Amino acid sequence: MSLEPGTALPNTVARPNSLPPCPRSRPVAGLHDWYTIRDMSFLNFCPSCMGFLGSTRFRDYFIPSFQKDPRQPIICAMSHPWLRVAWLQSIKQDRKDLGLIWHIAHGPPAGTKPCSGTKSDLRRWYHLTDPRTKRAVDNFDICSACVRNIDLIFPNLQFCVFDRPQDKKEVEKICNLNTHSRHFLPILNELERLSERSKDSIRHRDFQDFVDYIRRISRNRQCVKDTLLATQSWHFHPEIPELTICEECYEEVVWPLRDRSIAHDVSKTLKLVPALRKSSLLPGTSCQLYSERMRRVFRDAVSRNNLESLKQTAQYRYHMEHRLQEMHKLYEMDQLAGIDRRHEIEKNISIWKSIE
Ligand SMILES: [Zn+2]
Ligand SMILES: [Zn+2]
Ligand SMILES: [Zn+2]
Repeated sequence: MSLEPGTALPNTVARPNSLPPCPRSRPVAGLHDWYTIRDMSFLNFCPSCMGFLGSTRFRDYFIPSFQKDPRQPIICAMSHPWLRVAWLQSIKQDRKDLGLIWHIAHGPPAGTKPCSGTKSDLRRWYHLTDPRTKRAVDNFDICSACVRNIDLIFPNLQFCVFDRPQDKKEVEKICNLNTHSRHFLPILNELERLSERSKDSIRHRDFQDFVDYIRRISRNRQCVKDTLLATQSWHFHPEIPELTICEECYEEVVWPLRDRSIAHDVSKTLKLVPALRKSSLLPGTSCQLYSERMRRVFRDAVSRNNLESLKQTAQYRYHMEHRLQEMHKLYEMDQLAGIDRRHEIEKNISIWKSIE
């Protein structure tokens, strides 16, 4: 009888499966209770996260942090998703030092572009090859910075999971492992499972399981909310081209209602949206159906068969979004030119949050 390596590991207290949430995930100024690490004094840890890390083998690395400027807002290092993963894995894998934390905290070396997050970027992406078809899984692209992080965190998976052939061309994509993706932690959990099960080499069956998982979550383009995308292909109702809907939001909101009025006229495949406005400042189109408010408006219009109300709300939101995004862009240009627009930018964002 052979034990599965993944299940043979005991779940002791020394190997927690998650970290407690960090209460200081937004920058705050004027607090004097931070901790730091001697060789990484640019990292700050709040007392709550310190309480947890102080109970691990790494406790002796921490020292109180003395801020040079108390007015400077500070964010807890444990609110950074990659650093959280690095800490958790350093503890779980019984690492002897903070080498992993050091490498993740310092970011990719010169020559490796950082992850572009929820923004699309033109670069050479890594993909995942399905061993059955020998072809890349569609809609799953990872940047070199995120592949580097995975290599550091799970060294036994290095060179075995993601591919980037020499002749791979540059294309514009969004990294599927960006930390804002709701699949970020689930993908890392799957990688951890694969790593634990692959002591000497990756078993074909485990790798296939991982590929199947990625295939399932990559069927649809992920919603990137109000990020303006270059693509002109969206789901939309022929009478409301302003209401552009991404594949994920279509699946979640429109598809379940597809036999009802309005929903049933929304294009079932991606279609080219007619050009509605000309702005050299803001090229691109964003999803209009990700917020709880708009989803409620949509369901309500369907149940009352009220196309007119949906149209009005969608058009108002569309025009406000573009006005606010344009203003945001102008304020950002001012900031770069040295004009302080922080107040206007904050106000702009809060208006947007109230109507998005
Ligand atoms: Zn914290
Ligand atoms: Zn990335
Ligand atoms: Zn969406």
